[in-house]
Amino acid sequence: MEWSSLWSRILNKLRPRLPYGLRFDRSWAFGFVLGSSVFLSSASLAYYYRTQWRTKRALTIPKRPIELRRNEVLDGVTALIGNTPLIRINSLCELTGCEILGKAEYLNPGGSPKDRVALRIIEQAEEDGLIHPHTNSTIFEGTVGSTGISIATVAKAKGYNAYIIMPDDVAPEKAMILERLGATVEKVRPVSIVSSQHFVNLARSKALAFGKTELVGPNPFDIETEGEEAFENAREDLVVTTDMAAEDQDLALSDNPAKQPRGLFADQFENLANFDAHYNGTGPEILRQTNGEIDAFVAGAGTGGTLAGVGALLKQVNPEVKLVLADPQGSGLYNRIKNGVMYSSTESEGSRRRYQVDTVVEGIGINRITANMQKSLDLIDDAFKVTDLEAVVMSRHLVKNDGLFLGSSSAVNLLAACRLANKYHAGDGKKTIVTILCDSGSRHYSKFWSDEHLLANGIIKAGQEIPPLESIL
Ligand code: PMP
Repeated sequence: MEWSSLWSRILNKLRPRLPYGLRFDRSWAFGFVLGSSVFLSSASLAYYYRTQWRTKRALTIPKRPIELRRNEVLDGVTALIGNTPLIRINSLCELTGCEILGKAEYLNPGGSPKDRVALRIIEQAEEDGLIHPHTNSTIFEGTVGSTGISIATVAKAKGYNAYIIMPDDVAPEKAMILERLGATVEKVRPVSIVSSQHFVNLARSKALAFGKTELVGPNPFDIETEGEEAFENAREDLVVTTDMAAEDQDLALSDNPAKQPRGLFADQFENLANFDAHYNGTGPEILRQTNGEIDAFVAGAGTGGTLAGVGALLKQVNPEVKLVLADPQGSGLYNRIKNGVMYSSTESEGSRRRYQVDTVVEGIGINRITANMQKSLDLIDDAFKVTDLEAVVMSRHLVKNDGLFLGSSSAVNLLAACRLANKYHAGDGKKTIVTILCDSGSRHYSKFWSDEHLLANGIIKAGQEIPPLESIL
């Protein structure tokens, strides 16, 4: 059929539908096409100029790392916890071709993500009616440092004492901070977790010894219920005691539980308030900050709370997000994930330099499955092992190229993030990998950031330069 006859057939079809005797002819069609073109081109022009104007304006507004709002005064130091910025690690993005983003948890007031955990543990215990502020109550914890500092910070801010038991071979600056924060600090020889003298077990028994009566359960003071029944719903993971030996016996034996001094074992490894802090805090923040555009989350595990909490939240929203373990040398987790067996080669007879996890890295790496870690086991997709030297190389690279002075666990996380980036193929598109910047290098002057310490422990060799990051990726 010819075009002209097709055109007249269309016009004939439309003609009867026009009101008031109007005729639909060629000039109508021209008018319609012309009008639409003028409309479309002016709309695109307007859109173009508006985008240009916005870009120009954005350039003239100075960038601020954190939005400060008018009339916004935070309620004490605990209100500073969380809402940490997410930063692009520029040098690593250039090196790997992926977006590598770090959640700056070291900017929390207590200097690490453990602030979130300490706050959640203490608030949970308060909500359950187990502890009450300003009653001379004490929070007990066994920790390699960061959690202790966070517990001491939050405890003081909320009206409690802190009693921290830690291994005596961790960087001494952590104990110094704890002491300055007014915590009671007990340093003990590092021993195996099965020993009653392990710092975690000691913290538990100290909490028990605080009072003569062990009270367990989310509502142990339900005095309406008598005898065994009162403990029916007891949570055995909790240790809360009342100081029956308190000097003020009237207070200790008072019927008013809100006035009794209590001893609480925080128990970061088994207490799932740890998981909750990340599931309800760190995870949703990462999701918002990336607009949900995240391909992988990488983290080391000390208690496993961060990995499990953030991982569970991200996977719930998008099951395609990869959860990746960053494991330091000496930790058995890498083998547990890859081969199903908790094992580290440093466990073999005669090769161990240090009790617990044999590494200069502090805060991550474990040789047992904790309740918090357990929650991540079915979610982890991949794992990378990072040696002490590799962590040192990464930390020195970050200072030189990004002005980032970070601790050892952050270096392990970022190295694993780069390894993951290299595992993606060029055709996979630009992937976004998020990890945690846990604490500052200033917590590690005397070990991880001390060349003498690294030399003495054979991590670096005398007269040898620390290799560039590119050579180990
Ligand atoms: N980095 C540092 C410095 C830490 O102290 C910890 C906690 N021990 C972690 C990372 C690991 O966090 P998580 O306990 O949530 O596994």
